[in-house]
Amino acid sequence: MHMKLIYPRWPKLKNQPEFHLPPHGPVCFAATVPTDVTLTFCDEHVQPLDLNDSPDLVAISAMLTCQMPRAWAIADQYRARGIPVIFGGIGAMLHREETRAHADAVFLGEAEGRFGAVIADFKAGRLQKEYDYLMDFPDTRLIGPARRSILQRELYNFRGVQMVDLVHASRGCRFNCFPCCTPFLGGRRFRPRPVERVIEELAGIDNNRLFIVDNSLAQDDAWEKELFRAMAPLKKKWISHPIKDDDEILDLAAKAGCWYVYQAVVDTSDCIRQRVRRLKDRGIGVEGTIILGMDDHDEDYIKRLVDFLMDIDLDLAEFTVLTPFLHSPIRAQLERENRILHNRWEEYTGGTVVYRPAKMSPEKLQDLYEYAWRAFYSDASKEVKMGRLYMKVIQKEQADGTYRPARLSRDRGWKKPPVT
Ligand code: SF4
Repeated sequence: MHMKLIYPRWPKLKNQPEFHLPPHGPVCFAATVPTDVTLTFCDEHVQPLDLNDSPDLVAISAMLTCQMPRAWAIADQYRARGIPVIFGGIGAMLHREETRAHADAVFLGEAEGRFGAVIADFKAGRLQKEYDYLMDFPDTRLIGPARRSILQRELYNFRGVQMVDLVHASRGCRFNCFPCCTPFLGGRRFRPRPVERVIEELAGIDNNRLFIVDNSLAQDDAWEKELFRAMAPLKKKWISHPIKDDDEILDLAAKAGCWYVYQAVVDTSDCIRQRVRRLKDRGIGVEGTIILGMDDHDEDYIKRLVDFLMDIDLDLAEFTVLTPFLHSPIRAQLERENRILHNRWEEYTGGTVVYRPAKMSPEKLQDLYEYAWRAFYSDASKEVKMGRLYMKVIQKEQADGTYRPARLSRDRGWKKPPVT
């Protein structure tokens, strides 16, 4: 049986650099596919997609809302030729009803320990329209290592520089931030993977540079410390979303190879200023993630915020406009207030205003979003600033003997993990 796994392309923000990171959802999903299935993979961001082939089954993995229209179009083309299509991933979970109209089956939730039964159903001619495991989470001991061997790794280098591989150490999040769908998708409980399984996976990735894509590592101090202590001997260099702003944890993170972190900048407070300082004092770079268009944002505030970001010397900044994704708390609020302009999902990129802001027109917020990118990167482009961060990691690697130039590489071979 041949299953073709497709990761559809999405419209990149025009201000983002052109490189692509290897996708994470597909490689995690691929690890759950029984080994007697011949699995091929196409990441449409970096590979041409052949829509005229005839696999037995097409699986579409989609993460983002703005990816869904393309995902549905791909499915329609295959299904018009009688080739069945199954959907999975965050995008399908958020857009469950619409996706059903373009699918022979929709898999909702996390696939570990479950997808073998789906393949058995398919082979027996009894594929279900929906497999609903939302909020029914598998044991985290069943997770990983991801099957990175499906990736054509060399396609993810950029200008001769080896980019990061993506990996995760936990799922779920115990917070419930207003713009975020994670509590709907992954639950309100932090679900760490056993540290030894994470370390085993990290050690097996044939790339010294990693992006730990967990929603937030700042969820459980004891686990975070144990993880960083266990990571240090690997000498990997890594990026992550926030880590706990605590002296001991920050020291451990730096020793474990933390290279830079994403830090939400929600205001111009001393608290944020000092948090960034504490990271930078330890040699950890900071990329700010900034959402523009909150209800208390007016033009002056947004301009002051951009000044603040430059003043605190962020290495990088990623601006988005508030976007009411399905199943996020902000969506419910804006719906109640009748402030959502449309549901043209391909425009739900974070770079286009799709709602009515409280203190300005949508057009004004759009202008300020462009202003923020322009002003922050007026002295150097994002590519140049990113290049500086890569120079820092190269220096760290040269210092501890782990540096090697970009090359064509794959991981050390994927093995089916033992079921415990
Ligand atoms: S924004 Fe981050 S910390 Fe907040 S709910 Fe989402 S994943 Fe959790």
